[in-house]
Amino acid sequence: MQVIPAAIPMNIELECGRCGHRQAFSLPTPVCNACKHDWMEVRYDYDRIRRLWPDILRQRPFTMWRYRELLPVRRDDFQITMGEGGTALLRANNLGMMLGAPNLFIKDERQNPTNSFKDRQAAMVISMMKEAGVTEMVVASTGNVAISYSAYSAHAGIKLWTFLPSLVPPEKMREIAIYGSEVVKVTANYDITKKVAAEFAEHRGILADRGIRNTGTRESMKTIAFEVAEQLAAQLGPPQPGIPWRTPDWYIQAVSGGMGPVGFWKGYEEMYQMGLINRLPKLAMIQAAGCAPMVNSFRKNLPVAEVVTEPTTRVITIATGAPGPAYEYLYRVVQEHGGIFESVTDEETFRALHILAKMEGLSIEPAAAAAFAGLFKLLNMGIINRNDTIVVCCSGHTFPVEKFLLEEDWLKVVPAGPEALETPPPEAAAPTPVTSTSFLGALDQLDKRVRQIAIVEDNIEAARLLRRILQTHGEFQIVEAHTGKEGLALIRETRPDLVLLDLMMPDMDGFAVIDHLKADMRLKDIPVIVITAKELSLKDRQRLQGQIQMLLQKGSFMDEDLLQEINALLGKGNEDK
Ligand SMILES: *Cc1c(COP(=O)(O)O)cnc(C)c1O
Ligand SMILES: [Zn+2]
Repeated sequence: MQVIPAAIPMNIELECGRCGHRQAFSLPTPVCNACKHDWMEVRYDYDRIRRLWPDILRQRPFTMWRYRELLPVRRDDFQITMGEGGTALLRANNLGMMLGAPNLFIKDERQNPTNSFKDRQAAMVISMMKEAGVTEMVVASTGNVAISYSAYSAHAGIKLWTFLPSLVPPEKMREIAIYGSEVVKVTANYDITKKVAAEFAEHRGILADRGIRNTGTRESMKTIAFEVAEQLAAQLGPPQPGIPWRTPDWYIQAVSGGMGPVGFWKGYEEMYQMGLINRLPKLAMIQAAGCAPMVNSFRKNLPVAEVVTEPTTRVITIATGAPGPAYEYLYRVVQEHGGIFESVTDEETFRALHILAKMEGLSIEPAAAAAFAGLFKLLNMGIINRNDTIVVCCSGHTFPVEKFLLEEDWLKVVPAGPEALETPPPEAAAPTPVTSTSFLGALDQLDKRVRQIAIVEDNIEAARLLRRILQTHGEFQIVEAHTGKEGLALIRETRPDLVLLDLMMPDMDGFAVIDHLKADMRLKDIPVIVITAKELSLKDRQRLQGQIQMLLQKGSFMDEDLLQEINALLGKGNEDK
């Protein structure tokens, strides 16, 4: 294990979020001495830290603890760490190409020890509880907090009681039990579960976790902001001389309680105050339409959230009907600095989940997928500009428990006994023909391609993306050419069922390819979909009129728009014509 250089002793104080009263830092659950308010902000010696950062950070490993001067930890021996934070900032090239958004980044929080960004919170809060001498604790959760707190409590030797609404998948409950936590399933929604947990804690005289009201919760989430600022600067360069770190135009996250964006915002405010960055980001908070108290309240211009009493979304992780004080905080941030609250349907969310897995290789949980569905929607609405620098928080990994994610036919079975791979005995005269029940026949069946599509596109990456979209969604045989002339030759040779055609190509452009096809009796009926980055003039459009089946602008269509059209053109449903 790498030893992290000891923290430099720092002055930290608490400031009341309501009356501004300042008091000494204290653990574990501070309230304001002046007005009894329970939202206390931790304040640090920013001038001094600016003189130390970013130089001393160079010696430290890339985990969330590298920012310890701006974290409420005072002694190393209480620190409970399992390598949380320091997650990758991935550049989403495929998705970016599909959406026409070239500066799209994914903060991959699945890479935390229990596969969600709750591990930052757990590491910080459980460390602080250990320092405060807490030995038993109660937490209410929609799943991930309980999993994460359970892991870190096991590490810290703290007994944990977890209270979960009954819709949390049983596999997640088992994961919690494995760590030795008590698992209490409450047959009610999350907001009632929280109340039951609080009553139990009170009754038993055990400390109840206060979620976003814990200073540690918000402070831990700042580390996402610090990491993003450093990582964006490393990938895109510093924004100007003397300013070392970088700000995205947008940070997008799916929210329930809202601790993520609250912490992210505080992190950026602190960096701004210290001159480490030159501007503040905009926040986009995404909720499930079936439980969107923040979005509803924002649309009504309410500074305090109206509660949703009966959530109807299947995205349980973010089904919090009573968002609490985070909404008031975030509402103010959006009023003053721009940003948005937006909702997405479950259908949009599950579609985004599949797109992320198939286009970027990221298997994400529905709650994380909601953020991406939000991205798609905000781009379409023109609220987010396609050229903006966008960071989407990929908040958690999918669990194989989400049974309804796949269609019935996702599994293909090959009957292969030990004899399947044996070579035939030498005396066998003629090789036996492969029947469809034999091993090889079965393998052939796996690769049953029904329709042939030609892609004529000079940009290799764009061609690859189209091929990928087709391959993951249907059984097509795909042929590809990268110039107009090659494309025409390929179409003549293979007579595909459909052509996907680019317009701007070096030797022969798409218009000319179409003219040749239309002049050839054998080729003139092959449907053509034009996919272009070119802004078409009226004259261009007139040239294509009646010649092609569909025109798609690059970066402005989603995979399913294309597939729908293709399936319609190829007459899905009478596949075995
Ligand atoms: C908790 C959680 C959220 C919501 O986070 P908040 O910032 O607390 O609203 C989103 N996604 C996943 C995977 C989560 O576990
Ligand atoms: Zn106060």
